[in-house]
Amino acid sequence: MKFETLAIHAGQGPDKAYGAVMTPIYQTSTFAFKGVGEPGLFDYSRSGNPTRKALEDCLAALEGGVRGFAFATGMAAEATALSLLGKGDHIIVHDDLYGGTYRLLTKVIANHGVSIDFVNIRDTALLEKSIRPDTKMIWLETPTNPLMNLLDLAAISAVARRRNVLTVCDNTFLSPVFQRPLDLGMDIVVHSTTKYINGHSDVVGGAIVVRKPELAEQIGFLQNAMGTCSGPQDCFLVLRGLKTLAIRMAAHNANALGIAQWLEAHPKISRVLHPGLNSHPQHELALRQSTGHGGTFSFRVKGGRNEAFKLLSNVKLFTLAESLGGVESLIQHPATMTHASMPLDVKEKIGITDDLIRISVGIEHINDLIADLTQALAAV
Ligand SMILES: *Cc1c(COP(=O)(O)O)cnc(C)c1O
Repeated sequence: MKFETLAIHAGQGPDKAYGAVMTPIYQTSTFAFKGVGEPGLFDYSRSGNPTRKALEDCLAALEGGVRGFAFATGMAAEATALSLLGKGDHIIVHDDLYGGTYRLLTKVIANHGVSIDFVNIRDTALLEKSIRPDTKMIWLETPTNPLMNLLDLAAISAVARRRNVLTVCDNTFLSPVFQRPLDLGMDIVVHSTTKYINGHSDVVGGAIVVRKPELAEQIGFLQNAMGTCSGPQDCFLVLRGLKTLAIRMAAHNANALGIAQWLEAHPKISRVLHPGLNSHPQHELALRQSTGHGGTFSFRVKGGRNEAFKLLSNVKLFTLAESLGGVESLIQHPATMTHASMPLDVKEKIGITDDLIRISVGIEHINDLIADLTQALAAV
């Protein structure tokens, strides 16, 4: 079946108990045994819950994996996937990524005896050279947050397969509507479902989908052992959001591309970083590996911090807030907000400078969004 159909039906038949058409919220910590030594399908909600299972099965279908897992947050999903590593293991991480992932790696995972190298793996020759005998995992996101650089998923998977290294792709920015990393050879997909998958800025959640049964076994064990799973109420909300993912992504994509083109022609803007523009250095790759560009991108205001802050203080319809992927439009300043925890020298090296602004374009009418940016830019 096609994506739109799976989003509404996969994992979600009418409920076995009363025939509820929508998956009920099984708000229970525990389940009665049928008899001594005879548990039912579920026994305890950390190990499994019917509402969570519906979401997990649906996510697996949408990403084309063997099994999905739902977590309390995107970071809980990441912490669980990174727990596949232990003392003495080495991980290669793309050097341009979500600030929270950077913090988890450098402040938590590094303390567990895992050695971490941040490498620009857009250069596959450099990736190949950075792989050591103890390298167990390659971690990346594409497009990157907030610089909108792309990584060639098929090329990276091919290198990793040859060297027997696991690959993880954070697919939060495009969602499976526009990009399916497992189809391109990645082993594990992670998501912050807080963003597009839920889409309504009313839940924090995370997900993992895996391509192979062995990995499903390992992640299932870790999810239960670590207790990082999502609760049934949140799973219900994410499942509800997921049903409209395809139409929301199409609307985000059209609005964001329209605004990117408009900004590119604006005299107060020096650069627009959007993979759907011809001016993006990896535009060809974007067209090859994804079917759309999503709703989030960045741009540089001429000048620096003062000019950027003027724009941020004058928007009225865009809300100054972190996060992305909701139906409402948000605007933020990566250097002082989402990426504040990244050291200044690292930010400067990769280009998260004071003139950079990121927007998450919602699904309001594009004319209203452009009118808001027009008046805010007039104040710059
Ligand atoms: C938000 C985000 C995360 C973290 O997810 P939370 O749900 O906030 O824990 C991870 N990766 C990316 C790309 C994100 O945008």
